[in-house]
Amino acid sequence: MSRVFNFSPGPATLPEAVLRQAAEEMLDWQGSGMSVMEMSHRGKEFMGIHAEAVALVRELMGVPDHYKVLFVQGGAIGENAIVPMNLMGRSGRADYVNTGEWSTRSIAEAAKYGRVQVAASGEASGFTAIPPRASWQLDPGAAYVHICSNETIGGVQYHQLPDVGDVPLVADMSSDIMSRPIDVSRYGLIYAGAQKNMGPSGVTVVIVREDLLGHALAITPSAFNYQLQAENDSMYNTPPTYAIYILGLVLKHTRAHGGLAAMEAHNRAKAQLLYDFLDQSRYFSNRVAREDRSLMNVPFHLKDAALDAEFLKGAQARGMVQLKGHRLVGGMRASLYNALPLEAVQALVAYMQEFEAAHA
Ligand SMILES: *Cc1c(COP(=O)(O)O)cnc(C)c1O
Repeated sequence: MSRVFNFSPGPATLPEAVLRQAAEEMLDWQGSGMSVMEMSHRGKEFMGIHAEAVALVRELMGVPDHYKVLFVQGGAIGENAIVPMNLMGRSGRADYVNTGEWSTRSIAEAAKYGRVQVAASGEASGFTAIPPRASWQLDPGAAYVHICSNETIGGVQYHQLPDVGDVPLVADMSSDIMSRPIDVSRYGLIYAGAQKNMGPSGVTVVIVREDLLGHALAITPSAFNYQLQAENDSMYNTPPTYAIYILGLVLKHTRAHGGLAAMEAHNRAKAQLLYDFLDQSRYFSNRVAREDRSLMNVPFHLKDAALDAEFLKGAQARGMVQLKGHRLVGGMRASLYNALPLEAVQALVAYMQEFEAAHA
């Protein structure tokens, strides 16, 4: 067996130890005689797995008691509709900050459920920078302000949390949740698909302040009503049981490796290695404003785009996969999620040096 260095933007690389444990427990989970996939979601075995996964989210992120942690389905794209259906009702309008492709999609979806105002946009810069907080036009009567904490495609990330006063801040944190410590109490709601830093696709984590529950629009499907899900411990419908189990294993692994402060140090070391190389290279470049560069997703371009395919082929031959950039940005993109080892970035930089020497 040989495993590649997987730079995929998501679903993404997972800790090998987690995959091994899942393989060992596949047929018989801890003497239950069943695979986790075969368990009733209301049986004591799965209820324990579920409760432990919730507790791990709470512990790792320091979630205060007056927040609910929900495990639901629909992904972040589903949440683009589910968030406004649940929160917009308080005033009928919401502010969105547009920092790239994922924000753009959130805005288009939310506009179906209320009045959406774009409070600021990075479009003029080609989404290579986060619009400075001083330029935001916020509506004090908005039901919430929505941001995307890390734009997975464009590679921009908030490194300072914007102050939005008393209006609840909602964040799509799909691609940087659990990558660094954050202060949950500064958010009204956080949502994230699991498949970047926490596990497989299929489960979506929602962390919501309790006072925001209970304002859902009448059209909200029951399975997507946060209050109903909160009252039913995320078991109003059958939850994605196996994905929750793997998420729990990943979070246990994260805790054993020092928690989110250790993840941040590890992620900074990887990103710095790659950005330092890009900054001195005469052949490769990154177009994002320095202060807004993502620690998770690093888009970069070759001087000669005609050699993109050759670069990717050489990477594949060296055991490095999923480096092709998103079609909207072009070039390459290296995603450096928690489970990607430093060795992967060292191997990538060594290959880029070699490629540059051959082609510059
Ligand atoms: C991956 C991603 C999404 C899409 O998530 P789905 O699981 O496909 O719904 C949305 N937002 C961000 C920031 C992402 O990184």
